[in-house]
Amino acid sequence: MSFSKGKAFCRLDKQTPGYNSKSDEFAIFDKSKNNVMLFKDVIGQESVKAHLLKSVKEGRVGHSYLFAGPEGVGSLSLAIAFARYLNCLNSGETDACESCSSCIKTAKLVHPDIHFVFPVVKKGSSTPVSDDYISEWRSFVLANPYFSAGQWFANIADDKKAGMIYAEESLSVIRKLGLKNFEGKFKIMIIWLPEKMNETGGNKLLKILEEPPSNTVFMLVSENPGALLGTILSRTQRIEVPFIEVSALTKVLQEKYELGTEQAEALARLSNGNMVKALDNLDSGVDKSGYLDLFVRIMRATYSRKIFEIVDWVDDVSPMSRDNIRNFLTYAIGMLRDSFIFNFKQPELVFLSAGEKDFVSRFSPFINNDNLLRMVEELELACAQIEQNGNSKIILFDMAIKMVGMFKQ
Ligand SMILES: [Zn+2]
Repeated sequence: MSFSKGKAFCRLDKQTPGYNSKSDEFAIFDKSKNNVMLFKDVIGQESVKAHLLKSVKEGRVGHSYLFAGPEGVGSLSLAIAFARYLNCLNSGETDACESCSSCIKTAKLVHPDIHFVFPVVKKGSSTPVSDDYISEWRSFVLANPYFSAGQWFANIADDKKAGMIYAEESLSVIRKLGLKNFEGKFKIMIIWLPEKMNETGGNKLLKILEEPPSNTVFMLVSENPGALLGTILSRTQRIEVPFIEVSALTKVLQEKYELGTEQAEALARLSNGNMVKALDNLDSGVDKSGYLDLFVRIMRATYSRKIFEIVDWVDDVSPMSRDNIRNFLTYAIGMLRDSFIFNFKQPELVFLSAGEKDFVSRFSPFINNDNLLRMVEELELACAQIEQNGNSKIILFDMAIKMVGMFKQ
């Protein structure tokens, strides 16, 4: 398990509350009117943007890219902004213009040379392709380009169906690429979640990737590149999309969502560089102000093996809502990770409030790679069990007891 990438937080994959009915979906985004698919609208990710811009400047635009990053980091936004930049008729140094005919169409996701493939849900007997859902896709992405697969499926299906990219999609892709360019410099095919394609579909896609028509650019946007055929991986230029920097997330929460500095920082930290999660947390309105105190208490109690203090702590935490407990556990994972990082004197990686910094600086000597992994594992397990509606009291007590004795003495 690596701590620079991903797994070190428990995932809160449930749907964003308040977003389940079509009429009031994304009420949260009404405040922001500028999700217009420019590089500047992509949260953070400055080095990825610079890399893409450099490749254009140097005339090295590839035939196929793989934007690889976990949920909520903005890979899809990056791909769309890049597509827009490539086809902009008046592009600047760092971004597309906002007014050429190409930009106007891309901003509405209706550019005739920018195509989308994404997983869809079967309804009835016929096998759907992306085009069957294109109007839903456009309004969904335009409302908020930071969403999870689960949120997209919930938007297009009534029950909890998981979608996929069916083999029939490849024919549609081939047909579109066979058309001459309408007006763009590039014909662009953005495939969101190619890992949702079955093997037959993947093999057909591979044939096109092997011999792409001229001026065609594929942009595969994957949250799980490990699930792609090795042959597809080897045909694409991989663009690693890391977690969003806490400072960039904080900034967007302050500016677009009007949070105060401290609140924005706390939420950004809790969200572990994942904008989908940040919005989820923002919407759930959970009060995080007591988390540091709870974290300090459980660390002290387990370190000093004080069983009665552990019991007290469990009594205080277990009545909290499941959402709140899971958020707290995620917070605790973040604090442990920061304490570990602190040991390497990399303060730039640690973004903490004054109180948190004070605790972490004293606590970090007790955390090493080995006990970090074991503790995070226990916290993740507890998080998953809480999600499955287990008994909070038993789960938390069990977790705390297992953590006793894990500290570096
Ligand atoms: Zn333009």
